Formats: sequence, structure tokens, C-alpha cells
Amino acid sequence: MKSSNLGYPRIGEKREWKKALESFWNGEIDEKIFLDTMQSIRLNHIKKQREIGIDLVPVGDFTLYDHMLDTAAMFGFIPERFDYQGGEVPLSVYFAMARGNEKAPACEMTKWFNTNYHYIVPEWSKEQSSRLHITENKPLKDFREAKEKLGVEGKPVLIGPYTFMKLSKGYDEKQFSYFLSLLLPLYEQILKELEREGVKWIQIDEPILATSLTKKEMEEFVSVYERLPQAAPNLKMMLQTYFEAVDWYEELIKLPVSGIGLDFVYGLEKNLRHLSKSGFPEDKVLAAGVIDGRNIWRTDLSAASRLVEKILHSVPSERLWLQPSNSLLHVPVTTTYEKTLPLNLQQMLAFADEKLEELVYLTERFIDGEGKRAHYYAQNQQALHLWKKDASRYNANVHKECENLTKAQLERASSYLVRQKKQQEISQLPILPTTTIGSFPQTAEVRKARQKLKKGEWSQPQYERFIEAEIKRWIDIQEKIGLDVLVHGEFERTDMVEFFAEKLGGFAFTENGWVQSYGSRCVRPPIIYGDVEFLQPMTVKESVYAQSLTEKIVKGMLTGPVTILNWSFVRDDLPRHKVAEQIALALRNEIKALEESGISVIQVDEPALLEGLPLKEEKKQEYLEWAVRMFRVATSIVKDETQIHTHMCYCDFSSYLPVINQMDADVISIETSRSHGEMISVFAKETYPKGIGLGVYDIHSPRVPSVAEMAEMIERSLQVLNPEQFWVNPDCGLKTRKEQETVASLKNMVAAAKLVRARL
Ligand code: GLN
Ligand code: ZN
Repeated sequence: MKSSNLGYPRIGEKREWKKALESFWNGEIDEKIFLDTMQSIRLNHIKKQREIGIDLVPVGDFTLYDHMLDTAAMFGFIPERFDYQGGEVPLSVYFAMARGNEKAPACEMTKWFNTNYHYIVPEWSKEQSSRLHITENKPLKDFREAKEKLGVEGKPVLIGPYTFMKLSKGYDEKQFSYFLSLLLPLYEQILKELEREGVKWIQIDEPILATSLTKKEMEEFVSVYERLPQAAPNLKMMLQTYFEAVDWYEELIKLPVSGIGLDFVYGLEKNLRHLSKSGFPEDKVLAAGVIDGRNIWRTDLSAASRLVEKILHSVPSERLWLQPSNSLLHVPVTTTYEKTLPLNLQQMLAFADEKLEELVYLTERFIDGEGKRAHYYAQNQQALHLWKKDASRYNANVHKECENLTKAQLERASSYLVRQKKQQEISQLPILPTTTIGSFPQTAEVRKARQKLKKGEWSQPQYERFIEAEIKRWIDIQEKIGLDVLVHGEFERTDMVEFFAEKLGGFAFTENGWVQSYGSRCVRPPIIYGDVEFLQPMTVKESVYAQSLTEKIVKGMLTGPVTILNWSFVRDDLPRHKVAEQIALALRNEIKALEESGISVIQVDEPALLEGLPLKEEKKQEYLEWAVRMFRVATSIVKDETQIHTHMCYCDFSSYLPVINQMDADVISIETSRSHGEMISVFAKETYPKGIGLGVYDIHSPRVPSVAEMAEMIERSLQVLNPEQFWVNPDCGLKTRKEQETVASLKNMVAAAKLVRARL
């Protein structure tokens, strides 16, 4: 039996990677120092994994930005606009693809399966298909480096061609197979060179197998893998899947690859069923993901050992590797720096390094018994035992409230039309009302104020006075601009989840639990360790203050239960929907408090609701049912006169219109300025009966859109939507924008709304 890893976090123990990247971008260090720093981080990670005792250490998983971008660059997928002249891809081109430059907008970025990691989307085009070539064999280069510098023979990691194709864009269905066939010779060349180098194993990632592939897709997949391994018969290929079970197991195990990697954490039941029903072929190695690579909890080594024993019924130990369920990219690096958490919680955490230690323990235990490692096991069980009993995690009130919920009415008292009439009577809004999504620019001053509070240079009241002044300044600005429904601006919030997590019971915060979100951007998700409880109002003070300054309506602003859940690390002793229910109940209390304080429009943001969709078709329905229900748990408490808004950033309306309707928000705002045409065609076919704000300008760009272009966008929407239901707003929150461009854009937006009103 061997221990193996699939990928290691890039960011470094203290985010050295992020710092090096940003210093390089800012011109603080030159290319040579930058590349040297990156090399030392890369080698350090390999060394560390080897020292922990991992047998198969991945190489080639490290990147200067993103692993999909690396693969694209390796094959010369460099769109024309980046002025690439051939040869090795210069850093300037590589980073321009990721971040854009003066001449060319960046490539699109999107979510990596159902994680919060974002990759750069490779772009196909007709010209592209004739430009394909290998710019550099990256896995080979990384393999050599580790061998030469450290004497470690790593396991090169490569994204497989089928997943690469499926995640790229710029082709239609008919071109798919043709483009795929162009890609294969490049893969074959990479593999041949690795074989020639004497590489023993390569890990080829095909996480697309965790989604629901059709029969036809699977046939295509099979034809790829019947061919690929033959290019390098002496190179062993581990065909790696993760994030879910596989659907086409029988087809998979017939492929001429040397190993199959399956996820026994996120695809536990189904993958085990495959094993027991169809067995595992004698000519292959099974790489079994037995340790959760996406959460931060210590593994129950007793349960994990039992799982391994089960797997051993189907595969002998000589042909078994134990590994994390997926690349450890999705968890923080080490718990070493966590010093301020309650002891029991601290003892329960396992980040990347600690997970690898667990793996080594498990593997050794099966090789030579408990022996010298009994102490490690005892410690593990003791931590779990203390955690189970830990009283801070259990809250009787929360459980009682959850029980009462079964009797509660989770629908609004009246139908939308009845509510709308009552709401309009009070608000007297003009047709095509204008509003924003919540946040206004978080300027350097706002960030400095927060720093001062944190460092103790400012007292709490001093900080609050600053926030109030900022709210007042922006209420005045909004009134001058002439917006109809105002917001307080969210200046008090660092992050839309962290802000609430800090004020609710049951959440904890690490000091150094960073994970990469995209590029150099890292996030530190809060940890839901216990029952989530409403302690005291969280947003009432700011909203009430803002409302006191104006005759116009000020919209209250909350983050929804599913988004809070999906952007946190979640306890694993309760089903996710139960945790979401606790959060929803807490927010229900908040919404009640807002309403009682005179706030008559309340927005509950759910940008992560659709993001959290399961990968498998058969699991989507159940998820959507509870996710939508949780939104209603939070919001259904208000009276007819109170208007509930929601915001979802990008939202696939064409697939999920009925679901979104069931959320029963009075108004929904979504990001559409870049996909306006698409949206219009959805509403031309289907009717959505409630208030809707299709974003009329892109907030990701500093450009100030003109009155005419926004007016045109509104008018086009009105060809398919009823003017009574249409709201005018930007695509998303404005916190990353500068003040000047924000004011200018909003002025134009209000002018556009007025122009169209006059024409109606
Ligand atoms: N209300 C939030 C804001 O304006 C919404 C952010 C989001 O959708 N991600 O910043
Ligand atoms: Zn948004």
C-alpha cells in the first residue's frame, strides 16, 4: 500500500506565493527574483510532502497563477489579442491572459466544478486550431527540477484532454470532436517525453467524470483513453477523478490505463457500490481518496481504517494507494499558526499538512500495524471524543426553534400580486425604479479605518462615527443622483459572509486559514463549528441610521443562508441542509428586527445559491428544494407590505426560472449586462411574474457607460418584460469601484431610466 497526494496548496504557509506575485505585478521585484522565489516555494512544498512521508508526491501541480491557464499556455492556447510571438510563453503574456492589459481584456474566469476556486477558461477559435503546439512540457520540467534539486522522483500531474475540452469555450457541438482530435497528438507528445525521461507514474485528472456525462460523451471519453496510454506504454497512467462518484464505472475499468483514482469521501456510497458490484480489475492500481480534501476537520482514523478495510475486500494492498479525496488546493496549509481558537476546536483541525500526516499514519498502519504510531491514533480519538462532548457546540434554543419550524408557515401571507399592490401604495415608486445592489466603494480610507480599529488606534465609538459619516455622505450622494431606493453602502462590512459570521453564535475564525480563490486572491472562510444562533441584531443600527437621514426608502441588506453556508467550512456532523436551516432561522430573526425598526425593503443576497449546485443531475433537485426553502424560512416572516429583494450575481435563468420563482422574492436583481441578449431570449419564451432588475451596466470595469446605451438596454428588456415589473440597477455591488466612476455611472443610469420613462 502506498500514500499519495493529488496536489498541494500553492499559496505557502504565510501566503508567500501571493506576496511574491503581487510584488512582481507591482514592479517591486524583478522577474529573476520572482522566479527564484517561486522555485523555492515549489521545491519547499515537494520537500515537505516527502518529509511527511508521502510516497507519491505530485509535481507540476504548482502554478504561477492557475493550473488550467498553465495547460492552455502549454498548448499555445493564446488568443490573438495577446500578441504572442511563439516560443516559450513570456510571463507578460501569461499574466495578461489572466488579468488583461491595456490592449487586451483578460480571458474569462469561472468556477472550478463545485468549489470556490476559479480557473481561467481556455479559448478555442478557428485560428486557434491551427496554432496549437507545445510551448513547453511543463510536467517534464517540474519533474526534472524536483529530481535534480531534491532527488525526489515526483508524480507529474496533468489535466486530461476531455476535461480540458469540456472546460474550454469557443466551439459548438459539431466542432467538439474535431478540436478534441487536434489536442490528442499534443498530449501524446507530452506523454512520450515523460516516458523517455523514465517517469514511472503520471496522474491525469479527469474530474469531468464526476459530473453526469451522457452515453455519447462517455463513448467519446473511452475512445480518447483507448488511444492515449498507447503513446507511452511504459508510462503508467493514473486516471484520476474527484468531487463525486463516477457514473460509468464498468466502462472506466476496462480502459488500458494503469490505475483509476476514485473519491471515497464525496462519492463514497456510489463508488463503494461500484467496487462491490463490479469488482476492480487485476491489472490496475486503485487510488482511493479516503481523507476529506475539501474540509478542515481531523479525520476519524477509526472510521477511515474501516473504510480502507472495506476497499481491501476488492483490491489487495499492493495495488492500493491512499490519498486525499482531491487536490489539497482547497484547504489551508497548516494549523501550526492557529493559536487563538478554543483548545478543543484547535485540536480538531487538519489542514493540508495535517491531512497528509493522517494519510501516512493510515498507510503505515496497514503495512506494519499500529506499533509505534499507537500514540498518534490515541490522540486522534481523544480529540474526537472531546469534540463530540463539547458543550459549546450544542444549543438547546436553536434546536427548539428548528423543531417549531415544522409547524411554522413558510409562505408569505399573500400572493405576489396582493403584496405588490400594498407595497406600491406605501412606496409610491415611479415606474422603472432605480436602485443599487448594496455596497459602495470601499476606499482606502474605509480600509484604513478598519485597520485603526483592529490595531487599537481607534475606539469602537470612533470607528462607528466614521462609518456613520460615510453612510451620511453616500445618502446625500444618492439623493443628489436621484436614485429611488437607497442603500446604506455596507462600509462596515469587510466581507459579506464574514460580517454575519462574526455576529452569529457557532462560528469561529482562523488566523491563517487562507485558501486560494483565484490568482493571488485568497479567502479565509469562517468555520461553522456549532449550532448557529442569532445573538443580537446585526444590521439594524446602520439601516435605521441611514433611513433616518432621508425621506426615500432605504433598503436593508443581508447575506442569505445558503450563501453563508456555501462560503464557510461547515461542521460535518449535521447534514448541510440542517446547518442552513439554523442560519436561516437566525436571519429570520434579523429580518423581523429590521421590519420592526421600520425598514420596508429588505434585500437578501444569494449569489452562492446556484453556485452550490451538486455536480450530479440526480442530486440537483433535492438541493434546490432545500436551498429555496431556506430562503423562504428566512424571508417569509415579513408582512405583505414589506418588500423582499434578492440578488444572485450571474444566474442561469434559462434553466432555473421555476426555482427562482419559488424563492418568492418580490424583486430579484441579477447580473446581465454582458449576457443581455441571452436573457432577453429567455424572457421572450418564458414568463417571470415578479419584479426583476436586469443589471444595465458591468461593474467589473471602470468604464462609465453612456445614457444612450443603458436606455437602449432598458428598452430592449421592455420588449419582453412588463414595465411594471422592471427595475433599473447595476450588475452587482460597487465596492471595488472608485467613487468618481461610480457616481458618474449612476447618474447616467438614472438619466437613462428617466429617458425611457418619458417615452413610455
Ligand atoms: N450586497 C452585496 C454587495 O453589493 C452583494 C455582493 C454579491 O452579490 N456578491 O456588495
Ligand atoms: Zn452580485
